[in-house]
Amino acid sequence: AARHVALPPRRAVASRAMSAEAPLGVAPAAAEEEMAAVVDEMAEEAAVWCAVHGLVVGDRAEPRSGTIPGVGLVHAPFALLPTRFPASFWKQARELAPIFNDLVDRVSLDGEFLQDSLSRTRQVDDFTSRLLDIHAKMMEVNKEEDIRLGLHRSDYMLDSGTNSLLQIELNTISSSFPGLSSLVSELHRTLLNRHGKVLGLDSKRIPQNWAATQFAEALSMAWTEFNNKSAVIMMVVQPEERNMYDQYWLINHLKESHGVKTIRKTLAQVEAEGQVLPDGTLVVDGQTVSVVYFRAGYSPNDYPSEAEWRARLLMEQSSAIKCPSISYHLVGTKKIQQELAKPNILERFLNNKEDIAKLRKCFAGLWSLDNEEIVKTAIEKPDLFVLKPQREGGGNNIYGYDLRETLVRLQKEQGEALAAYILMQRIFPRASLTHLVQGGVCFEDLTISELGIFGAYLRNKDKVVLNNQCGYLMRTKVSSSNEGGVAAGFAVLDSILLT
Ligand code: ADP
Ligand code: MG
Ligand code: MG
Repeated sequence: AARHVALPPRRAVASRAMSAEAPLGVAPAAAEEEMAAVVDEMAEEAAVWCAVHGLVVGDRAEPRSGTIPGVGLVHAPFALLPTRFPASFWKQARELAPIFNDLVDRVSLDGEFLQDSLSRTRQVDDFTSRLLDIHAKMMEVNKEEDIRLGLHRSDYMLDSGTNSLLQIELNTISSSFPGLSSLVSELHRTLLNRHGKVLGLDSKRIPQNWAATQFAEALSMAWTEFNNKSAVIMMVVQPEERNMYDQYWLINHLKESHGVKTIRKTLAQVEAEGQVLPDGTLVVDGQTVSVVYFRAGYSPNDYPSEAEWRARLLMEQSSAIKCPSISYHLVGTKKIQQELAKPNILERFLNNKEDIAKLRKCFAGLWSLDNEEIVKTAIEKPDLFVLKPQREGGGNNIYGYDLRETLVRLQKEQGEALAAYILMQRIFPRASLTHLVQGGVCFEDLTISELGIFGAYLRNKDKVVLNNQCGYLMRTKVSSSNEGGVAAGFAVLDSILLT
């Protein structure tokens, strides 16, 4: 009974753990202590849960953790409790997934649009230029992809100023964390089942997250469409990958639930061990490949030599299903995101007016840098913008003072230097107090969150086999940090509590 007397009112406890919006109240020191004890207990329990359920990543401190499975594991960084998220925005984000899937597919078929939109970028960005070269080669030979598989993730933030859900970006290659995000929801549900009463939080308000099984199912359905029982799925990976367990979750589901074998190969290995037979069949290490699933190849660092580019071209030339194809990959570039946000462009690709309106509603301001007026405004008020190059994987964007300096410098440079970037309206989510657990240490900080909705699309000629949302990834980061990647070390994995 003494324990209950010592505890502050339930709402106050919940808001302290969950959100900075609600008043914290003047909790007595004893209650503070009590609360700290609950948090400590939960943090330890959660870390143990991660270890015994495979919510793990390779530990930076162990050099072999990125190459040797089972060595140097640490729990994935996570938020101790799920973050509140309005059910209306959750519904809106989920409804957008099939529309974006459809849009990607339509845009991918318009090779001229992709080449034209990226033509100025290609002058100044070697990486984009190399991707466009492969794309152009496929256009020359009229390469058609009858079976098309997209495993996307569309990321959003809630803008506090306008109280709206705005898209950060759409990932069409290497959309990460389908494996681990499902587990975080599970972890939070477990914690709330045990401590939810004391915290005033109901575990039933955490939506089910089937991202891992649904992505695995989409891959297996693509394998089925390929229709060769002896073929394997090939996951293209980086030589060092500390996020390998996220990938192994998919591999495991593919094997256990669908009886499909997956091989993991680096681009260099594909180059050394791969060939395309005269009939188009991709054979790697003696095995016929049905689906090439890229968890690498999205960054210039993935192509340290010509060998890696040869591998990318080889796979593209084959009749294996590419997830993504070079076209799908290009549709996911930030330049195309900006082009699609221009007036009357969506109408070129979609017929349904309601769908178009839904997409447009979630578009933030996006500008190309040939717009002199916006460049001028961004130099004056850099904090209202984000400057983005054509890169993926986090840590590449430019903010604030650096943004101003970069724009001023690029403007002075002769030629097309500005064309490598796009400008985006900066989104300001409301910050809340959160307990974060990283490397076994729990700390509290002001945070903001980004919600990603996974989407899967599979098509065989005229037949749309699959077009769905597939669960979610919530990432939460300290609000003073600009970038948001979990793998890049900026954010923690989270889930949502619907309000
Ligand atoms: P990447 O492909 O590298 O993930 P993003 O466009 O997702 O590139 O940007 C990386 C991170 O930068 C995001 O996760 C988010 O935290 C932050 N960010 C990106 N765009 C904006 C924006 N318009 N407003 C606020 N933050 C942004
Ligand atoms: Mg991205
Ligand atoms: Mg991103």
